[in-house]
Amino acid sequence: MKARLAQIEQAARDAGFTDVRPLDMRALIFHPETRELCEQNLCGKYAHNWSCPPSCPRPSDMARRVTGYSTGILVQTRDKLIYENDLQAIEVLRNIHNRRFYLFAQSMRGIYGAILPMGSGECRICRRCTCPDDPCRHPDRRVSAMEAYGLFIGEVCEASGMCYQYHADDRLMGLVSCVLFP
Ligand code: SF4
Repeated sequence: MKARLAQIEQAARDAGFTDVRPLDMRALIFHPETRELCEQNLCGKYAHNWSCPPSCPRPSDMARRVTGYSTGILVQTRDKLIYENDLQAIEVLRNIHNRRFYLFAQSMRGIYGAILPMGSGECRICRRCTCPDDPCRHPDRRVSAMEAYGLFIGEVCEASGMCYQYHADDRLMGLVSCVLFP
């Protein structure tokens, strides 16, 4: 098990992530109240992306589902913003992180089979999501966000020893995703 996790960590570093940690599986606490936050639709993706609520599994379903996974890894892409609230730079960082994460998840799926990837933000595998007009183009590759499933990222990072907090003095912004392995 340890050797396998070490190989996975190395593969994540090779994929280019800034920080890589074994995931503390006890920190996978799926909070039902996150669903209410999504329903406020502040991001505009509620019911407009197949990876987001109401289409993705509920926190209570996820709590049952993760019992089938024995280990996991947490990955982060971190970069410095030029100025506070640099939304354009955050968007670029999200695209870099997500592309990197989709490739990493695909490669882990090829090696380890039925993995469970949880991403950052809505699924961006397609240039434009087909939701709600047509079925998902890639249901086998679709990635829902950790938050969409009900996780608090700060809670998972803290338990796993990963620095995640944003500090205005250094303007280092990080985006986090994880993969669970059977
Ligand atoms: S794979 Fe494409 S269609 Fe499916 S959720 Fe992702 S972006 Fe939408």
